[in-house]
Amino acid sequence: MSNGHGLSEEEQDFFEAIDRNTMAEQHIFDALSDISDEQYYTLFEVEVEHTCGPAQVQVYPERAGTLYRCLNCGMAGIIGG
Ligand SMILES: [Zn+2]
Repeated sequence: MSNGHGLSEEEQDFFEAIDRNTMAEQHIFDALSDISDEQYYTLFEVEVEHTCGPAQVQVYPERAGTLYRCLNCGMAGIIGG
């Protein structure tokens, strides 16, 4: 519960998790900034700093976004393009 002077512990924990995930997704996005056209719609791996630490991350870039899965912690998702 918020005390009116800031975030509750639960809220802080929530927003920190969002921040970590957003940062990791930014790293993945950055790693894909210079890929060639042939790499779209193919599955390959990049090494990035994920929420779990340095990790190999599988990516599948599409024009509308990038599908990814961390091979270290198993988290998967889509980064909107
Ligand atoms: Zn991970």
